[in-house]
Amino acid sequence: MLSMAMKYLELSKYLKNMSKQVLLLNFDQSPINIITVKKAYKLIAKNKVYVDFDSEEFHEVKLVKETIKIPKILILKYYIKLPQKKIAPSRKNIFHRDSYCCQYCGMDLCDRTATVDHVIPRSKGGGSTWTNLTTSCKDCNLYKGNRTPKEAKMELRNKPKEPKYGFFIESMMIAFKRTKNA
Ligand SMILES: [Zn+2]
Repeated sequence: MLSMAMKYLELSKYLKNMSKQVLLLNFDQSPINIITVKKAYKLIAKNKVYVDFDSEEFHEVKLVKETIKIPKILILKYYIKLPQKKIAPSRKNIFHRDSYCCQYCGMDLCDRTATVDHVIPRSKGGGSTWTNLTTSCKDCNLYKGNRTPKEAKMELRNKPKEPKYGFFIESMMIAFKRTKNA
């Protein structure tokens, strides 16, 4: 039952330094969200989650009379069906999806050097959608210009796709790691 939770313990290492945040897992142990300790406390009080007090991963919250332990990972006792979460194909989200890698030449990029390319140019009817936006270095973007990859004889390393749910949590982790290493 806890095997998948163990996998997310790995994630919780990154949570350690985030002030008082708890990873909430669905009944099937897929991540739902990162919640505050306060929300976590409410879920525990309402007996809606499994807690593992043997875990060394917990927050200590000092109350007037006592110190309570809030585990860094909670698992819901029931399954909640999540609405199909739509994540906006923002600049940052596109870069995260493509791991900050130019999808034409493979160069490693950062916020400063990465650009968003419309695979089918806007002038040719290409939309600003997950499936038409890709990460490109400035040189490739400039070279490609107002052409389709075929016209420019450029090949995409990955076909742009809409990311699956879970990406949101992952990108939060990536953003966190980035700020930590900055
Ligand atoms: Zn490039």
